[in-house]
Amino acid sequence: MVRNKNFDVIVVGAGHAGCEAALASARLGMKTAMFTIYLDNVAMMSCNPAIGGPGKSHLVTEVDVLGGEIGRHTDKYNLQLKTLNETKGIAARVTRGQADKYWYRVKMKEILENTDNLDLIQETVDELIVDGKSVIGLRSSMGIEYSAKAVVLATGTFLKGRVVVGDVKYEAGRQGEMSSEKLSESLLENGIELERYQTATPPRVDKRTVDFSKMQELKGLDTPKYFSMFTDKNRNKNLPTWLTFTTPNTVEVAKELLKYSPIVTGIIETHGPRHCPSLDRKVLNFPEKTDHQIFLEQESTESNELYVNGLTTAMPPFAQEKMMRTIAGLEDAKIMRYGYAVEYDYAPAYQLFPSLESKKVKNLYFAGQINGTSGYEEAAAQGFLAGVNAARKLMCMEPIIVDRSEAYLGVLVDDLIHKKTPEPYRVLPSRAEYRLTLRQDNAFLRLLEKAEEIGIVSKERLDYLKKIKNTIEHEIYRLKEEVIRPDEEVNLMLEGMGFEPLRKPIRANELLQRKGVTYDDLRYFCGIKPYPDLVKQQIEIEIKYDVFIDREKAQIEKFKKLESLKIPENFDYDTVKGLSNIAKDGLFNVRPMSIGEASRISGVTGNDIALLIAQINK
Ligand SMILES: Cc1cc2nc3c(=O)[nH]c(=O)nc-3n(C[C@H](O)[C@H](O)[C@H](O)COP(=O)(O)OP(=O)(O)OC[C@H]3O[C@@H](n4cnc5c(N)ncnc54)[C@H](O)[C@@H]3O)c2cc1C
Repeated sequence: MVRNKNFDVIVVGAGHAGCEAALASARLGMKTAMFTIYLDNVAMMSCNPAIGGPGKSHLVTEVDVLGGEIGRHTDKYNLQLKTLNETKGIAARVTRGQADKYWYRVKMKEILENTDNLDLIQETVDELIVDGKSVIGLRSSMGIEYSAKAVVLATGTFLKGRVVVGDVKYEAGRQGEMSSEKLSESLLENGIELERYQTATPPRVDKRTVDFSKMQELKGLDTPKYFSMFTDKNRNKNLPTWLTFTTPNTVEVAKELLKYSPIVTGIIETHGPRHCPSLDRKVLNFPEKTDHQIFLEQESTESNELYVNGLTTAMPPFAQEKMMRTIAGLEDAKIMRYGYAVEYDYAPAYQLFPSLESKKVKNLYFAGQINGTSGYEEAAAQGFLAGVNAARKLMCMEPIIVDRSEAYLGVLVDDLIHKKTPEPYRVLPSRAEYRLTLRQDNAFLRLLEKAEEIGIVSKERLDYLKKIKNTIEHEIYRLKEEVIRPDEEVNLMLEGMGFEPLRKPIRANELLQRKGVTYDDLRYFCGIKPYPDLVKQQIEIEIKYDVFIDREKAQIEKFKKLESLKIPENFDYDTVKGLSNIAKDGLFNVRPMSIGEASRISGVTGNDIALLIAQINK
């Protein structure tokens, strides 16, 4: 059958952003095509095959609740899952998974291939076809034209990608894959500004050549907390990772060989992620430190490759070998792939609306590393949102906008659009103001309504979640009403359990607020119901931390008020007397939709905001 080349939505890219965008669009009923340069590398983990960790695990869980794939897929195809920060505060508890790089990729391709309304096409896209101000299709490197009502660009590190190892530099999107050389020109011609970033990855070594006796073995959990609420697994795979350290010798060798580092020779001129510095950068910045952690992580059950986490470098191969010999347990390790860096074009995200649609070209969406981010989770979250909003635009529906008080997804998009970072952006808990509200454990409560509005999650699941939410609310209400009186029996019981006796009547929620008292403990004093752990956990958290949560709620209300003060679409900032030039520049560039959004633009002060409100009120 001859291919019909007319699509509703075309997604360019089959990385983590592209996969989520294409699945979301197709699941919302749009005739969707997903283009990729190399079809065998769908959902490829270019760097560390790990999903989750602080901030990132929030994103994964949020995307899962909204109807995305990354969470449940990691739950299925992982080698190890852990809960981090178990002993720290509730907001800090997160899941981290070691994904199986091979099975993650192969099984994601299988899902995509079996999704209705979705075509997978291996072709390099060279050009956008734009009619006036709207994208209407694209042209591939084979000269074929495809029409589309909306396009999502999720090209990752491939636009004019240049791989660097030592003094060798060549065209590639990542090692072993061609770069996309022409699409950047087409974007520039359509008024999209581009800049360049860089990212790097460590060497991989052969497991059979490592001396694990010199390392500490680290295991995950047999029954971990999964990313998805709907994962039903009794026992998880639990393969170890190993911890070792660099030695004074490593640092000595690194210092001696620094002259060959491409960040020292100037072969790499672009900025890379500060949160994931290369060993060269660590030695340059902290010359006194000699014991940097090195984690050895298995890439897959199907491979002997071990990812040497902590040894990111694009030094020449002989230098990588020499440094490796100085690390305990890696003295005889055989390198299977050398570490390398890749430089690429990205499109700074101030050119986007919060829906991720371009301000310059209508119906063109951007998601993932092309927006200046780094990380699979960041990419997947943006891809999901862009895919949903591209589909909604074609259905004449309002875009889904997530704000900073609702989800880490909102923090991510809002930061990207308003704040310029000098390096690839990664989501971090410190970037979120409302951390106690935006917990991983309550993503389903926060995003239930949005999930329903989007319409990908099944009615059956939504009904189940609504029931859970209602139960939690009712039980908290009941505990706040229930009075416990200090009679002899009650106090004897309390003392027996190691708690202070009561001197006056208290409500059940007050007893639960006491340190060490659990929901189950209340059964002796006011009767409880055999709720699932999920419900009990939410009741305990909401009651024990209610003072702090309420304080945050008040801050969120203030935030929402400013967000609701809308700025007219074509508002002329030149009419505002007294507005500083820096503020004007930022406001004209970003074109914020609300006063709240305006207040977060770099260079806009409280005084500028007061002047703006006064002018808009006029
Ligand atoms: C060397 C390296 C090191 C990294 N290190 C880290 C790290 O330390 N920490 C971290 O968090 N992240 C790191 N990453 C980044 C992580 O891999 C990305 O953030 C994530 O994969 C981005 O997902 P994406 O979907 O945006 O793009 P990618 O996963 O890069 O996928 C891009 C897709 O677009 C397709 N494509 C591109 N151009 C075209 C075109 N013109 N036509 C058709 N298809 C096209 C490609 O074929 C590919 O399918 C690293 C990546 C690399 C390459």
